[in-house]
Amino acid sequence: MATMGSLIGLVNRIQRACTVLGDHGGGGEGSLWEALPSVAVVGGQSSGKSSVLESIVGRDFLPRGSGIVTRRPLVLQLHKTESGQEYAEFLHSPRKRFTDFAAVRKEIADETDRITGKTKAISNIPIHLSIYSPHVVNLTLIDLPGLTKVAVAFYQQRGNKNLLSKILKTWFDLMLTRGDRTFGVLTKLDLMDKGTNAVDVLEGRQYRLQHPWVGIVNRSQADINRNVDMLAARRKEKEYFESSPDYGHLAHKMGAEYLAKLLSQHLEAVIKAKIPSIVAMINKTIDEIEAELDRLGRPIGGDAGAQLYTILDMCRAFDRVFKEHLDGGRPGGDRIYGVFDHQLPAALKKLPFDKHLSLQNVRKVISEADGYQPHLIAPEQGYRRLIDSSLHYFRGPAEASVDAVHLVLKELVRRSIAATEELKRFPTLQTDIAAAANESLERFREDGRKTVIRLVDMEASYLTVEFFRKLPTEPDKGANNNTPANDRYQDNHLRRIGSNVSSYINMVCETLRNTIPKAVVHCQVKEAKRNLLNRFYAHVGSKEKKQLSAMLDEDPALMEKRDSLVKRLELYKSARNEIDSVAWK
Ligand code: GDP
Ligand code: MG
Repeated sequence: MATMGSLIGLVNRIQRACTVLGDHGGGGEGSLWEALPSVAVVGGQSSGKSSVLESIVGRDFLPRGSGIVTRRPLVLQLHKTESGQEYAEFLHSPRKRFTDFAAVRKEIADETDRITGKTKAISNIPIHLSIYSPHVVNLTLIDLPGLTKVAVAFYQQRGNKNLLSKILKTWFDLMLTRGDRTFGVLTKLDLMDKGTNAVDVLEGRQYRLQHPWVGIVNRSQADINRNVDMLAARRKEKEYFESSPDYGHLAHKMGAEYLAKLLSQHLEAVIKAKIPSIVAMINKTIDEIEAELDRLGRPIGGDAGAQLYTILDMCRAFDRVFKEHLDGGRPGGDRIYGVFDHQLPAALKKLPFDKHLSLQNVRKVISEADGYQPHLIAPEQGYRRLIDSSLHYFRGPAEASVDAVHLVLKELVRRSIAATEELKRFPTLQTDIAAAANESLERFREDGRKTVIRLVDMEASYLTVEFFRKLPTEPDKGANNNTPANDRYQDNHLRRIGSNVSSYINMVCETLRNTIPKAVVHCQVKEAKRNLLNRFYAHVGSKEKKQLSAMLDEDPALMEKRDSLVKRLELYKSARNEIDSVAWK
């Protein structure tokens, strides 16, 4: 494990990373900032907190004034150096070394105003100040804005009155529940009324804490006004305790210097004990963030190549889902078979051939085809006309099959878009892909339509000769005695023509029932499987980077969430690296 001195340095570095990456605590359980041990200075307004910090550092560097002067947490990181140099640095201007501490004070005031404005509001964004000096101990202290609602300072003794007022007693009890972490610091001992003292508290008989109480005498306002410097103040404090009849026997355990040593030792020990649980917490958080990032989708590289790759990847993901719908695995493809197995046969069955080939209509068509000269043996023209006009009826069911399959495919595109998880984060791309797929389907539909119509037309172009050659020559059967012989002959003749045409049409119907599905699958289903996004690929491939990023436009809320997760991940990883590097030393 690391040496003691490096542990506070380690926490200091992680704390600075927290501030840079926006973790100021208050983020609930996952806050690394809150998991890091540090010494926070709490107390009422004007109880002497800032004075104690200055005394520990041995320099005047904190802004002063009446009212709440400390309006942003000040994270004060003290680094003991071996060289004689003494200087300060702020995290917000890392390259600037301050050797003049009056300038440090001004910088704190300016930096406070920078965030809070001149409104005197209080902010939780800390200012990080590092002080490098041979005269300090390694220690991190956080000076918090005072609790103004508490009228009287917390650890400030109140002359001969009860040492702690009622409100403060409540607060104190609260602190005691975290007693192992609380150091009691009693300021303004020099202001106690004559004849009273705080020995009971300082010796731990009153307001018992795990750690010893430390009494402090800071500079009074009058001292400050008279510009009593820090060294003189420390000397004065030392003298005060050593010469005090009340506290003389406790002198070696009093004063700011002693407090600093005590806190430093304690902080090192706490950090050492806490490191394993911090590492565990870091690892757990990293896992959680990675999982969440996977769920949201990883950020996309900024260059056109990475963007194009992402778009094509999304297209492929969509295409995969679409094919699963067609080939099985996902529902919907079976509805295409439904069109061929039910809808098409039903539509064919409903065609009005009975009416079209009724005796009456056959007579009409045949005699119109014959003209003034009735046919002698077989009405060639009449047959052709009857067959042509019957075949015409097949266009309807043929086109209806094309449209029905088109609708099924369109629905599958819609479902596949919705079912492609990866696409969810890119609403624009989602719309683009859907539009491209539908455009392709529209083209395939047009091709399918032309093809099935052509199938029907082909049937009309050339009739199957064998069918007619095989027809038996007409014997004159079934004479009806009530009608004249000539009429009977005529009716039977026409009836036979009707029935011949009808069986021819039935034969064609059987053929089309088989070939229409083939055409539809060939033009629409197969094409959709193979070439649904081909044009889109070509179209995307010719786009500029700007247009590609526009396609990868994400939901802003989602982007924001990912950005903040990435930032946190960076923080936790850098913290883990810091800890690893110390552990291996
Ligand atoms: P904070 O609001 O808790 O940071 O309090 P400050 O450190 O700003 O101190 C408030 C006032 O109390 C200042 O005028 C200090 O000079 C004065 N003060 C602080 N500590 C002592 C002390 O131990 N003795 C005396 N006489 N005055 C003190
Ligand atoms: Mg203060």
